[in-house]
Amino acid sequence: MSAGKKKRFGIISALAEEQEGLIQAMHHPVRHVHGMREYTVGTLWNVDAVVVLSRIGKVAAAMTAAMLVEKFGVTHILFTGVAGSADAAVRVGDVVIAEALVQHDMDASPLFPRFQIPLMGLANLPSDLALSSHLAGAARTFLEAMSGPAVHRGLIGSGDQFMHDGMRLAALKNALPDLLAVEMEGAAVAQVCFELGIPFAVIRTISDDANEHAATDFMHFVKTVASRYAFGIVEQFCRDWVGSQEAAEEPVLISMPGPGVDTN
Ligand code: SAH
Repeated sequence: MSAGKKKRFGIISALAEEQEGLIQAMHHPVRHVHGMREYTVGTLWNVDAVVVLSRIGKVAAAMTAAMLVEKFGVTHILFTGVAGSADAAVRVGDVVIAEALVQHDMDASPLFPRFQIPLMGLANLPSDLALSSHLAGAARTFLEAMSGPAVHRGLIGSGDQFMHDGMRLAALKNALPDLLAVEMEGAAVAQVCFELGIPFAVIRTISDDANEHAATDFMHFVKTVASRYAFGIVEQFCRDWVGSQEAAEEPVLISMPGPGVDTN
């Protein structure tokens, strides 16, 4: 049990619906208000956690991530929310876990290549592989029961705009062919975590196709499905995480009655 205590997870969402139920599920929650945000510190399924709503957009998300690390001492960050699809194979209701994130509205060309973060030398910011794999495992376990939603892993793009224009999305996809989803916060959290050396992962449930119907699809989806997914996947993630930490910390083999021992 001690393993879950040493590490502290920051769990960020942009919107209240994306995080519904998490604070209620917390043990010993303590609220702190700082910089116009409410940080709730407590325990989620034996994981030491700080849950917070960043609000929408890259600056809001960056500020929240930095505060989680510097003021609340988190060692890991998870971002859970919804996103628009940027690939025909990624359907509404599917889940995308970021392998890397790009700020798709970053363009300091011709000084730097388009999408590259100036003076950082990078456009695609990698998420933590181990954490993302844990998250993908949790998402698969949770979604298995529903037989339908797929779990994708790949590139997520973030920008300070709600993408609701098929032509614009097509142009972006042309410039970033690997793009699976678009949202408004993930790559900002990625930059903060990259610069501060904090392992992080981003999971997004697809709420819309980032086209002309995006606004209505988004509203409907966020209220009905997104919150259930986020809660279920975070719960599964925490349970798996504590299990894996305990297993890693206690290499002593405990003798268990073996399955199918047949003495006949
Ligand atoms: N109408 C909403 C605003 C939502 S902005 C409100 O009033 O609260 C959309 C949020 O969902 C952002 O946090 C973003 O990360 C994500 N998102 C979902 N679909 C998106 C899309 N098509 N383009 C950009 N972000 C999207």
